[in-house]
Amino acid sequence: MSRKKCFHCQFSVPSNASVCGHCGAEFRKVADKSITARISSAIGNGFMAGLICIVVLEGILPAVAKTYFPALLKYETTDEETTLYTLFAACAGALYGLFKGEDKEITRR
Ligand SMILES: [Zn+2]
Repeated sequence: MSRKKCFHCQFSVPSNASVCGHCGAEFRKVADKSITARISSAIGNGFMAGLICIVVLEGILPAVAKTYFPALLKYETTDEETTLYTLFAACAGALYGLFKGEDKEITRR
């Protein structure tokens, strides 16, 4: 299991701990809405959304159709459609990340 250090006492605790076992400090996740966190989240979410879109359209859906619903194969997306949907998903993901920011862990005593 991965571990993290308590910000207060530097004691090593499991990374999913909510309270430090040494000093009792409480770890809480808060939304970091700073501009750097927003940009970083926009890039990450946009990339993930685009990637998921490609995998679903080019990998999962055709495989499922081929196996179970051969009649649906004629509706398979063209490369242009896949590109368009992927760009759209990436933009949507980026916008989501831009508004949401990133989760950041803080310690409270
Ligand atoms: Zn501690």
